[in-house]
Amino acid sequence: QGMISTYSELIELDKKHFLHPTSPIKQQQEKGATFIFDKGEGIYLKDIHGNKVIDGLSSLWNVNIGHGREELGKAAMEQMARLGFSSCFATFSHEPAIRLAAKIAELTPEGLNTIFFTSGGSESNDTAFKLVRHYWKLQGKPEKKKIISRKRSYHGVAMGATSATGLKPFRDFTTSLAPDFYYVESTGAALRSFIESEGAETIAAFISEPIQGTGGVHLPPQNYFKEVREICDEYDILFIADEVITGFGRTGTYFGIEQFGVIPDLMSVAKGITSGYAPLGGVILSEKIHQDLIEKTEGLFMHGYTYSGHPVSCAVALKNIDIIERESLVENSRVMGEEMLKGFKWLQQEHSIVGEVRALGLMGAIEIVKNKQTAQRFDKPISPLIVEESMKYGLIHRGVIYEGADTLIFAPPLVISKEEIHKMINLLDKALTAVE
Ligand code: PLP
Repeated sequence: QGMISTYSELIELDKKHFLHPTSPIKQQQEKGATFIFDKGEGIYLKDIHGNKVIDGLSSLWNVNIGHGREELGKAAMEQMARLGFSSCFATFSHEPAIRLAAKIAELTPEGLNTIFFTSGGSESNDTAFKLVRHYWKLQGKPEKKKIISRKRSYHGVAMGATSATGLKPFRDFTTSLAPDFYYVESTGAALRSFIESEGAETIAAFISEPIQGTGGVHLPPQNYFKEVREICDEYDILFIADEVITGFGRTGTYFGIEQFGVIPDLMSVAKGITSGYAPLGGVILSEKIHQDLIEKTEGLFMHGYTYSGHPVSCAVALKNIDIIERESLVENSRVMGEEMLKGFKWLQQEHSIVGEVRALGLMGAIEIVKNKQTAQRFDKPISPLIVEESMKYGLIHRGVIYEGADTLIFAPPLVISKEEIHKMINLLDKALTAVE
């Protein structure tokens, strides 16, 4: 009885006082929260009634090492007790931020050796946009300020990050965006022709997710990033890889861009850097950019967040990376990713509504179609129905319905085992059967 009254009380308070991020606001009012989570362990989340569900998207593609890691709690507690916060502005520093910066330089592709810390992915991308413009200004080219991104991209919700996001529904939330952002089709030819029509002397940078996540887990076309790298070099344009989802093992290599054999000039990171146990992000710069900043900046480097290099987040990140290494989670992501894709292919054989399936590491998608031969979609997307069914069977994942998509997306924690992959596929099989 007590439990029930507490529960309905929580539901009412939630409706009244808590405006949820990226949420179906009316449904939240009508139905209340679907889950009030209370605990996590490995790939599972438990709600306050004790219902256990598989966290098929690692919450927000971020809980890479899985839930319930006491070691991270201990690292946070020790750091808080020792030094909960001190500033890294100006010439102040502290050991967790220094150690983490050095550790990340070890993990990143060659030449990317310096990090500017933020609190998350959106702040990282906004920082990257300001940094590249600042960089070109220092080179005596202040007119190089346009940022090119890709259609179907997602880069976050800060003003710059929203403006860079190719997915229109995110931009349509606000009436006025930051100027000088453009979106191109995902081919080398489209990028080149855009640069030539705008003039390379007006373009600061190109930004891309190695694999588009929020847009529906889209792998790049063959050779795409090789072409991008060549074009950026040819026209003197900086290449920013948005590794917010793909960093820290998600795709089966430490960073997603490594899959495509090129090195960007900057990388945005967040999410998996702490597996979500504390907020943290960063922009990683090439040595060339860092050296130029040092040589050419007169006076102060005028950009910094209060929480740039938060000591507790940095201590948590260091322990998180320790675990990723100790448990070979990058390798596990690669191997289990193959297992997940095998499962998707089996579902494709079993279900008339499963169209194209794809995955790289533990980042995957299933297209829902009316007709497999023509890839024709249903008139109204049905992935939301499948997601709802899955939830009843104990599996959380997401449906993407933006811009004509009808796609199920998956990104389970990197600790997932073969048996757990099979379990996830079996639950999905039930959900698909119920909807078909
Ligand atoms: N960039 C990418 C590729 C993302 O997927 C996200 C979040 O999903 C972001 C940036 C924004 O990160 P945050 O939500 O931490 O601000």
